[in-house]
This record gives sequence, C-alpha cells and structure tokens, in this order.
Amino acid sequence: MKLLVTGGAGFIGSNFIHYWFANHPKDEIVNIDKLTYASDLSNLNGVEKYNYKFVKGDIADEKIVDSIVKDVDVIVNFAAESHVDNSILESKEFIHSNIVGVHVLLEAARKHDKRFHQVSTDEVYGSLPLDSKEKFTEKTAYAPRNPYSAPKAAADHLVRAYHNTYKMKVTISNCSNNYGPRQHKEKLIPKTITNAKNNKDIPMYGKGEQVRDWIYVEEHCSAIERILEKGTIGETYLVSADQERHNVDVIKLILKELGKPETLIKSVQDRLGHDIRYAIDASKIKRELGWKPKYDFEKGMKKTIEWYK
Ligand code: NAD
Repeated sequence: MKLLVTGGAGFIGSNFIHYWFANHPKDEIVNIDKLTYASDLSNLNGVEKYNYKFVKGDIADEKIVDSIVKDVDVIVNFAAESHVDNSILESKEFIHSNIVGVHVLLEAARKHDKRFHQVSTDEVYGSLPLDSKEKFTEKTAYAPRNPYSAPKAAADHLVRAYHNTYKMKVTISNCSNNYGPRQHKEKLIPKTITNAKNNKDIPMYGKGEQVRDWIYVEEHCSAIERILEKGTIGETYLVSADQERHNVDVIKLILKELGKPETLIKSVQDRLGHDIRYAIDASKIKRELGWKPKYDFEKGMKKTIEWYK
C-alpha cells in the first residue's frame, strides 16, 4: 500500500509513520508537512531505511496535493494546528489548515478516487460535567467550544458530506488526548516532564481539576491502522483507552516518578472557556473492529518519562 500521511513531522503523525513501517515494512509513505513550529523532522530519524519520501508543503496547496494524491492509495490526514491556547490568541491558521486544508485534500481524493481518513478529536463534542459518568459516543451531538475544535468539527462535517454526496471512501476517528514520545513541549505532559527535570515551576491551569481521557500515542496509531484495514466506509470511530485523570493528578504522578516535590506546581489563570471534562466510550471500535488498547495510564507514562529523560 502507498500512503499519503499529512502532518507527519508532528507528534502523532511521526509516531504513526514509525508504527506503520514497523508493522508494514514493505509499504510506501509520502509525508507532506508544512513544517510549522510544532513540527520536528528529527521525529522521523530512522525512517530513511524504508520506502519513505518527504515533501515540504501545505495541505491547502491544491497543486502539490493533487500531484501527490494521484499516486497514492490512501490519505491519512493528521495535519492541523493543534494547540488550543494558540487558537485562542489567533485562529486564522486554524481555519486555514483545519478546514481549508481538509477541503483541498478531499477534492484531490474525489478527483482521483482515493480512500481518505480524517484524524479528528474528541473535542468536537464539547465538554462534559465533572460530576457525571456520561461519555461521548458516536451519536453525541457536535458542540465544539473553542477556535481549535470548531474548525476540526467543520472538517468532520465536510468529510461526511463528501461521503454522502459523492460516495467517497472516507472514515473518521475521534480520539481522546494523546501522550507519548515526540510531543511538542507546549503540551501538558512534555512541559511538566521537562520543567520538573530542570526544577522549574510547573504551570497548572486553575486547580487542575479538568479531566482528560489519556491514550498512549501508539494505541491511537494501532486504532487508525485497524480502521484503515477493517473499518466500514462512511463510519466514525471513537478511540480511547478509558484512562480519565484530573490534570493535577497527571502532574503529581510525573513529579512522583521523577522524585520531584509538589511545591514546583504553580497555579496560573485558567484557559478562557476551558472544557472541564472529556470522556470517550470506545465500545464501537472494540466491538466492531476488535481493537483494544494495551497500556493503562501509569504504564504508558513510565515509557513516556523514560523517552523524555
Ligand atoms: P502537532 O501539532 O504535533 O502536529 C501537526 C503537524 O501538522 C505539524 O508537523 C505541522 O507542521 C503540520 N501542519 C500543520 N498545518 C499544516 C498544513 N497546512 N499543511 C501541512 N502540514 C501542516 O499535532 P498532533 O498532536 O500530532 O495532532 C495530529 C492530529 O491529530 C491533528 O489533526 C489533531 O487534531 C489530531 N488529534 C490530536 C490529539 C492529541 O492529543 N494531540 C488527539 C486527537 C486528535
């Protein structure tokens, strides 16, 4: 199989490329990445020995995208602006990459009749109450609440609309929060590990009471692999490892693992419009595709901390 992976110099895209080659060493991957601040080409060290090609380019550039898409079998779209805090400061790039870019990819996939997989997020479903047991399912109504998740939600709608209108071969995965190797240090877990290692203050939004549903990045990659291989065209699959944790507990676990004091934690003003809780019911992908995660949060965090060390 020949895959076009977009955003493959970022966190999840680069882990996906490593994962794919480890499990499908004969396949071919073209990676198109605009190389924004969030990317790091050293994330891809080691893939040169496979059938791998890198193209520096924007997924919203019709000409480049068309020239690559015509020669691949499947497109897996990771490329996006991904940091909610940045979207609150300035959202233009989020509209450009997370909506316009997806439209350009879809048009190319339509023209050349290619399979398209959209990597999406649980944030399209909005926020759940802290004190409930409720979880997002594939039937939950979309209710994005920030300038990162709103364009991601728009893109999902566009993907489904292309399937309905043009009968295109599409699938979507909405995954919970990822952690693991190669994540940019602007994000909670790498920032906490890096600061703790250097005995620097660890900023925590408010009281750290927000709940996120954490998944080790390799599990997200294996879920996408399963969807590409066995998923039903036109369907959406929610992905999670069922590991809900309060942010404060995530930070405390890292400090404990690194033998650092909790006095490093410094509460800072909360993010504007901060979603309080995400939780995902991943029973559809488990039931229909037989996918299941291997790591609980504590096991995945040990591997992650070792990598950052
Ligand atoms: P990331 O910010 O680490 O990487 C994004 C990559 O996309 C970067 O290499 C960047 O240069 C590239 N990129 C951005 N705009 C581009 C454009 N217009 N053209 C080409 N390349 C472009 O993000 P990530 O955390 O790896 O997330 C990847 C995808 O997974 C995103 O679509 C995100 O919405 C989704 N997702 C992320 C999480 C998470 O916890 N990180 C959870 C669920 C879904």
